[in-house]
Amino acid sequence: MSKILITGGAGYIGSHTIVDLIENNFTNLISVDNFSNSSKDTFDRIKEITGKDVKNYNVDLCNLEQTEKIFEENRDISGIIHFAAYKAVGESVEKPLKYYHNNIESLVNMLKLAKKYNVPNIIFSSSCSVYGNIDKLPVTEDTPLPKAESPYAYTKQIGERMLQDFLKISPNQKAIALRYFNPVGAHPTGKLGEMPIGVPNNLVPFITQTAIGIREKLTIFGNDYPTKDGTCIRDYIHVSDIAHAHVLALQKLMNDKNFPQYDVINLGTGNGVSVKKVVDAFEKVTGKKLNYEYGPRRPGDAVAIYANNQKAIKVLNWTPKYNLNDMMLSAWKWEKNLQQANVN
Ligand code: UDP
Repeated sequence: MSKILITGGAGYIGSHTIVDLIENNFTNLISVDNFSNSSKDTFDRIKEITGKDVKNYNVDLCNLEQTEKIFEENRDISGIIHFAAYKAVGESVEKPLKYYHNNIESLVNMLKLAKKYNVPNIIFSSSCSVYGNIDKLPVTEDTPLPKAESPYAYTKQIGERMLQDFLKISPNQKAIALRYFNPVGAHPTGKLGEMPIGVPNNLVPFITQTAIGIREKLTIFGNDYPTKDGTCIRDYIHVSDIAHAHVLALQKLMNDKNFPQYDVINLGTGNGVSVKKVVDAFEKVTGKKLNYEYGPRRPGDAVAIYANNQKAIKVLNWTPKYNLNDMMLSAWKWEKNLQQANVN
């Protein structure tokens, strides 16, 4: 059974991907996570769902020496799914060097070691933020990438470019970069989900924390955009659908000898949904009235962005299973679960 290394395995998408890998018979997994933005409990939660223990190395991937020890100990790694990265757009503007250092250095180290230890298959977490503020919707993968809007987005553009340059001199490696749109929701059991540290930046954790009483009210950033209800439009996609796409991408690299050495694939539902619609869906499926108000626009927000997801559907044979109501219900289940566990 091939061994898969997941970096950032305790993180939001990493942990859901571990569950999906296990459910798809990838049982030989190791994770590297230094819990800089995640919790050790995640592995207990994964065990609750799957019955399996996953070994985690508490190592900073920017530390090449310590990371190399993992590869020395595990000589049979056949795939790396590289999630580990900082991901807050706003923070990246405040602290650009923190982002450039962490997100780039860790990838450089991963690639060096992938080559030295002959790991053939690499999946890279990218983001729709590489497309910036784009007018032509839905967004296809061949959209030329503009100047990045934030240091975070730039680290993803650089990461993709690094992979391509690396592959040119590495005939034994293949990679897929997956460009996520807006991952939301939680494992359908409510036992695994997003665990923002401090005040959440993202919409859905802010909604669930408001509904449960941690935050007083949600501010919807802007209702004067040129959209039907005046609020911004995004492509929200269930985290478990994103997770499953990683498993399919890995299987693709492993099993399809004719697959190109490098590809990029959008992961979204293809539906543009407004912030107001998200709030309405949350209220409908939970029966809870959300305390919210309209406030000024958030600087840097694009009016609308959603995916053309045909490539993922065709190439990976992937279809998103969960709709907006499922996303809201699972996120709410998770929030209630966190409250019970007294994590907040
Ligand atoms: N948003 C909002 N209030 C919040 C957080 C987010 O109105 O407290 C809006 C934000 O302006 C954007 C959408 O929700 O239109 C999604 O924002 P998020 O930060 O979750 O993801 P982004 O698409 O910006 O990466």
